[in-house]
Amino acid sequence: MFEKERAELAESLRRKGIKNEEVLRAIGAVPRHEFVNKTLWHLAYNDSPLPIGSQQTISQPYTVAFMTEMMDVKKGNKVLEIGTGSGYQAAVLVEMKVRVYSVEKEFDLYKETNRLLQTLGYPVATRYGDGTIGWNEFSPFDGIIVTAGAPALPETLKRQLKPGGRLVVPVGDRVAQKLYVVERLNETDFAERVIPGFKFVPLIGKEGWDN
Ligand code: SAH
Repeated sequence: MFEKERAELAESLRRKGIKNEEVLRAIGAVPRHEFVNKTLWHLAYNDSPLPIGSQQTISQPYTVAFMTEMMDVKKGNKVLEIGTGSGYQAAVLVEMKVRVYSVEKEFDLYKETNRLLQTLGYPVATRYGDGTIGWNEFSPFDGIIVTAGAPALPETLKRQLKPGGRLVVPVGDRVAQKLYVVERLNETDFAERVIPGFKFVPLIGKEGWDN
């Protein structure tokens, strides 16, 4: 179902500048409509965010592709996602043969999405709770992707990166954010790249917004 729309979505992301072939292949493979309500299926392959309940959204496909490309992960790598939401970003990573650990703070979303990912055959280790403090038990990670906007760089997440690993996180106010790509160079040093022009729902937690 929707094979043609999916292929067209991947091609449109290529035209918008996404270069990583594995990312484009994954976008062309994951059935995005399965991650939204049936009443929104006709919009599922547009390059736009959509509501998923609990006042949250499934990110715009371009944003998913761009953040994944920036994280620069390879087959077999281990990634932590903060904000499981619909599960779409996690499924894109699994499609790239990445091992995914994902944390969600909304209990209903956590439960429903956990079930959906299982049904669709995407193995993702999910946890209910505050992801701003990471997932120490499984750290360090090759990549950490935060899919909600933080008020400042979450320091705990930086420390759960492997040397050479990258943290991709939107940082700003509640209205707009810049995307920070933080690479861990070694035990003590980090390099930062900042790309403006993003808009996420707020990251709420110990190293996020208060509410
Ligand atoms: N990656 C998701 C995007 C979901 S929107 C997708 O592909 O659909 C961001 C999600 O982050 C929301 O579900 C929200 O509940 C969650 N979130 C916000 N603050 C969080 C926190 N501190 N820990 C875990 N999840 C959080």
